[in-house]
Amino acid sequence: MPNFCAAPNCTRKSTQSDLAFFRFPRDPARCQKWVENCRRADLEDKTPDQLNKHYRLCAKHFETSMICRTSPYRTVLRDNAIPTIFDLTSHLNNPHSRHRKRIKELVCLCTFRFPTSP
Ligand SMILES: [Zn+2]
Repeated sequence: MPNFCAAPNCTRKSTQSDLAFFRFPRDPARCQKWVENCRRADLEDKTPDQLNKHYRLCAKHFETSMICRTSPYRTVLRDNAIPTIFDLTSHLNNPHSRHRKRIKELVCLCTFRFPTSP
């Protein structure tokens, strides 16, 4: 069964792309951050264990500095990696709410941008 990306507006799945997929972290605090950044209300009541088992995000949602490519066949995330790149606006048809939402998102993206240690 292919893995689907859990991010909103992302239709990537593991069979159609050579993009890496990452499981949700088991660590509850970090898992919570992933869910918050995804803006998937339906994921909020799931346990980190369930999320880790059933949900993944593709590499598109991570800054390149958070991804370590140890070989052409193996891609791993840094221990403190948080997904920060999401397309949260394109599904909205109302131009007014889109504009309002966009401003809020920019603020949130800045808040969740964590410094990565070298
Ligand atoms: Zn994705």
